[in-house]
Amino acid sequence: MPDLGAVLNEIAAEMAARPDRGVVADYIPELARADASAFGIAVIDGQGETYAAGDADIPFSIQSISKVFTLTLALGMVGDRLWRRVGREPSGNPFNSIVQLERERGVPRNPFINAGAIAVTDVILSGHQPSEALGEILRFLRFLGQDDTIFVDKAVAASEKRTGFRNAALANYMKSYGVIENPVDFTLGVYFHHCAVAMSCRQLAMAGNYLAHAGRNPATGLSVVSPERARRINALMLTCGHYDGSGEFAYRVGLPGKSGVGGGILAVAPGKASIAVWSPGLDPSGNSHLGRIALEMLAKRMGWSIFGTDGSSAPV
Ligand code: GLU
Repeated sequence: MPDLGAVLNEIAAEMAARPDRGVVADYIPELARADASAFGIAVIDGQGETYAAGDADIPFSIQSISKVFTLTLALGMVGDRLWRRVGREPSGNPFNSIVQLERERGVPRNPFINAGAIAVTDVILSGHQPSEALGEILRFLRFLGQDDTIFVDKAVAASEKRTGFRNAALANYMKSYGVIENPVDFTLGVYFHHCAVAMSCRQLAMAGNYLAHAGRNPATGLSVVSPERARRINALMLTCGHYDGSGEFAYRVGLPGKSGVGGGILAVAPGKASIAVWSPGLDPSGNSHLGRIALEMLAKRMGWSIFGTDGSSAPV
């Protein structure tokens, strides 16, 4: 089996040298401050060992990667009733598209496009004050990441709130169909804040480790969800985790993954590894350009694609 630490060092060195780095998101002004030269990667293997290279300890804005964790939390609260409020099909549309929502009477296609994630946030918020719901989400992330220093970057949340007109449109549209129960401002406030959580690759790989191991994080011994639920969340990550780039990500990388416009990607090699990668420059679909390339290299070299290995990689 290839030496994972050596593979990560090679990938980080290759990524550092690449001139094509994608474009840093600036529609949330605070995100434009990210350093396009950054690259980090962290992997927890099946033995619970962490390997990291590059800027793996620098916290970045996890943005839509938070949607994996809010989905997990909402399913824990209401179970399969969640699927009355949001679908499970890939959208084939940009992350913030409003067109489909109109055609489908306010019910978002899946929990990972913005509209779907806002609906999921609304489920978590019901029966609580916004500060309680956000506290619950942050506690969950700190528990999963095994690190109480994980924080909400208030400047990013405020920046998104100031400029989140399209998300406000999506939320209001859903509200008109009764898909949002709480005051739109409350739901959006919680949504913007959980997107603004900052985590490092190392923390994120730990937080996602339960998805790689049938719902239980072997590094901590803690159960998070049932094996069935972990499998289903992985299925949604594979089909919907990269917006209209989901097919391309499955084709190239072959792993369930969720991206965020902060340039992070959480990917899962079931039974084998939890992987977090970060590089702020994005491709036209809003997914980390070098993050995707690095994951493609990693999955190939380690033989981790869920669709099978090819001749050049060693099965594990
Ligand atoms: N907070 C971002 C938004 O709602 C999340 C988008 C993303 O990371 O893909 O626009």
